[in-house]
Amino acid sequence: MEAPRSVNSFLPRKALDALLSALRDGGYDCAAPVVRDGAVVYTRLQAQDRLPHGISIQQAPGRYRVGFTDSPRNFSWANGPQALKPFVFTAHETLWSARRDPDGNLCFTEPDRNVDPVAIIGVRSCDLAALALQDRHFLDGACADPHYQARRASLFLVAVNCSHPSDTCFCVSTGDGPAASDGYDLLLDELDDGFVIQAGSPEGQKILDRLPVVSTTDRQLQDINRQNRHAAECQTRRLPPGNLEPALFANLDHPHWQTVAERCLSCGNCTSVCPTCFCYRELDQGTLDSDHSEHIREWDSCFTQGHSYIHGVTIRAGTDLRYRQWLAHKLGSWHSQYGRSGCVGCGRCISWCPVGIDLTEEVATIVGAAS
Ligand code: SF4
Ligand code: SF4
Repeated sequence: MEAPRSVNSFLPRKALDALLSALRDGGYDCAAPVVRDGAVVYTRLQAQDRLPHGISIQQAPGRYRVGFTDSPRNFSWANGPQALKPFVFTAHETLWSARRDPDGNLCFTEPDRNVDPVAIIGVRSCDLAALALQDRHFLDGACADPHYQARRASLFLVAVNCSHPSDTCFCVSTGDGPAASDGYDLLLDELDDGFVIQAGSPEGQKILDRLPVVSTTDRQLQDINRQNRHAAECQTRRLPPGNLEPALFANLDHPHWQTVAERCLSCGNCTSVCPTCFCYRELDQGTLDSDHSEHIREWDSCFTQGHSYIHGVTIRAGTDLRYRQWLAHKLGSWHSQYGRSGCVGCGRCISWCPVGIDLTEEVATIVGAAS
């Protein structure tokens, strides 16, 4: 996918701070990718903070390493373990709480859903595609999730076309990258001396209008075209093409499910880092005096024992059944549910799997396709 070339604004690198200032003046907190605990994660910037530069990342099955170079670039890496998911579907939250009043009556309260607007800088196309899928799950239908809805409405997204896909990326084969086509407020193409920048929404245009941009040159447009082509061509992994639902469901008894299960630890890392996984559990946490309780929602994983526990029976007791559930849903029955696969090709589940299980290879073996 190639970025639209009708863009004509260039933000010189020395003016990058003006983007942060314009966002803050527009009422947004800024969250940007910084290195923390050995990984690139989105962090809220303080007023004096600047975007880090020269970060490089190596990814391979079961491997993620951060390095540093003298590059002036701020986004010359693919992605970290986080996507946009924690900003909209938080890992742990209170949905409502209950308190017993002095007369013994139960009083229920909902949490404050006001969320400060936040601009997230450095979003990749795969994560925009994942956000669109999470929107469908949490917002479409008769009952939109009010908790997700409030946080989603607070987001201003500054996307960056990916110039350095990692070894584990395969967004070209899912049609979700490496260049963004929609879903952003501002879109950047990074070059050594600055950013070709375009707006994707009226809010984005308002911020763009405040920036000290100059006109793009033909050379810059050629450079970003070449960069986007290269980012697509260097991806070596791919999913088998088309709707895999029939092939996966025709192979529910394939012996390879058991072969994968002999390596899989059922740790759930893949579902935690996956930007489209949305499973959760709800539980009540009461105080010892029984006067107060919180109704909690927190991320769950189809790899846990409890996820398939129903009325005294664990439906998927074995790891083979759990891995099959994950893959057959993600790449198969999502098509019936949402009209497309649930995978956007970000490669996180490959990098962050402690034993390096690679879904592109496993599914190719199971459906009998060359990966
Ligand atoms: S299944 Fe893996 S590659 Fe696909 S979206 Fe989820 S984490 Fe990314
Ligand atoms: S596939 Fe990998 S990350 Fe996922 S549960 Fe198994 S061992 Fe953990």
